[in-house]
Amino acid sequence: MLDPPLKIDEVVPLADDQVGLAVLGSPIKHSISPQLHNAAIRELASRCPSFSNWVYHKIEVDAQNLGSALPHLAQCGYRGLNLTIPHKVEVFSKINSIHEEARSIGAVNTLWSNGSEWQGFNSDGYGLERALMGELNTPLKSANILILGAGGAARAAAAQALSRGCKNIWIANRSTARLNQMIQALGDSFDVDCIVPFEIPNIPDAILEIESMLIINATSLGLNVGDLSPVSLEVFPSSTKVYDMIYNPAETLLLKQARSMGMECENGLSMLVYQAARSLEIWTKQKVSAEAMFSAARMVL
Ligand code: NDP
Repeated sequence: MLDPPLKIDEVVPLADDQVGLAVLGSPIKHSISPQLHNAAIRELASRCPSFSNWVYHKIEVDAQNLGSALPHLAQCGYRGLNLTIPHKVEVFSKINSIHEEARSIGAVNTLWSNGSEWQGFNSDGYGLERALMGELNTPLKSANILILGAGGAARAAAAQALSRGCKNIWIANRSTARLNQMIQALGDSFDVDCIVPFEIPNIPDAILEIESMLIINATSLGLNVGDLSPVSLEVFPSSTKVYDMIYNPAETLLLKQARSMGMECENGLSMLVYQAARSLEIWTKQKVSAEAMFSAARMVL
């Protein structure tokens, strides 16, 4: 059972010795970020007591209220924020300082206030890269990748892969216009010659000849009961690896098919944990234990 979120107008100043962290979004009630972060903060505090007064909340903030929420939260003693739907892109017009990584991804999921202004970062690309290495033993450098989707998460995946020198990226998305916009935007920061857009179900022959393909689902297809799979895996060799960014449900139809075909596959919990750990490292400047976060996540999911 998850605690209900705070509403932004219920947020009052924290005690002078407290440091506030929070995830902002709408809807936010299903977020498990407080469980992940508070577990890691407890672990940090056991080694370094100065973190015992750090606390992480979830706060319901809708699109219209982000601009007023940011100064209010800073005044109330909040120093670190995570952003989720619908704020990751909108925040660009609300802050002046944006880290290069977040700029190339085109989204901010982490904010840090040094007391005078909010600075924007993105830890999703880092979280994905660490998850792929840790769970599927797959580095992005020289990788052949098929990305499904063209939203914020797909763009983070593509930007991270491009920044690490991947070999080829094939991308498919339901909306072709959005896919083309994404490739154009990535072109501001990267050489996008290695990106090939295609339409499902017309999978290019060149893809099927690749033995070590990594398929990443960055669509929201699979989140709901009864959702179809974003791609049929039948045509791919069993050496293909599959990473589904969705973690709840733990096994989407895509992962079920991958497992039944003997493919190595993993859900998005590891990405969630590693991006969260990275955010906490940005805020605390300390090494953060992902293990405490994994344990907390498994208890609530
Ligand atoms: P966006 O809303 O920005 O993008 C959603 C994507 O899903 C778009 O490409 C959209 O296509 C596609 N899509 C939605 N519905 C359908 C459908 N019925 N059929 C085919 N495609 C569909 O969301 P995000 O990019 O932020 O998130 C995408 C997924 O990644 C979500 O499931 C989210 O939970 C997950 N995620 C996981 C993270 C983790 O840490 N594990 C972190 C971030 C996201 P179109 O453009 O045509 O609408």
